[in-house]
Amino acid sequence: MEESLREKLDRVEERLSRALARCGRSRGEVTLLAVTKVFPYQAIEAAYALGLREFGENYVREFEAKHPHVKSLPGARFHLIGHLQSNKTRRAGELFDVIETVDSAKLARRLNEGPRRLDVMIEVKLSPEGSKSGAAPMELPALIEAVRGCSNLRLTGLMTMPPWSEDPEESRPYFRRLRELAASHGLTGLSMGMSHDFEAAIEEGSTCIRVGTALFGRRPKPEAA
Ligand SMILES: *Cc1c(COP(=O)(O)O)cnc(C)c1O
Repeated sequence: MEESLREKLDRVEERLSRALARCGRSRGEVTLLAVTKVFPYQAIEAAYALGLREFGENYVREFEAKHPHVKSLPGARFHLIGHLQSNKTRRAGELFDVIETVDSAKLARRLNEGPRRLDVMIEVKLSPEGSKSGAAPMELPALIEAVRGCSNLRLTGLMTMPPWSEDPEESRPYFRRLRELAASHGLTGLSMGMSHDFEAAIEEGSTCIRVGTALFGRRPKPEAA
């Protein structure tokens, strides 16, 4: 029989507790972001009913369709974790509470002109094989300065997505590098770690793990571009 969402959540929380214990950190330091991309809005409702409050979505257009169903859930916050095209910034600023994928000053300025104050993170690209988007480490100083100059944006930290590997130890050097980059710029938020490698991310200081498959199972259809 398929494991229920509650059982999957319990297993994620157990893995998380063990990883936190290994490095002497506490549960309150880490946000468990439930990644609901490709799943229907009912997945958000079900996770909300189990106490989850932070949700990650990849596509503006997809979340636009779910938003009317979930926007009134008290305390729920929605993070954009997929690449943001500049022609969608206005809509993204209306739909999301956190944009984790700011990777250019132009994008930041457009978000800054939007209707609401937003929490943002800068996505960093740490290897040519990883996520296609993200700012290069050498672009960070100027980009951080630009984002800090946007009065409607609050820069909370950095986000990264290492190249895919089954072995979580392959992700660790990227997690460590992100932590060092954040520290060198006085940033404390680190969005890193997914279903298969979040323990390594926790050990390297992650403050936000983005978990999809381990909570909701395999995604029903291949991710659209
Ligand atoms: C899909 C996705 C996740 C979740 O990945 P899982 O392996 O299903 O946990 C996390 N972060 C980003 C940026 C994603 O696109």
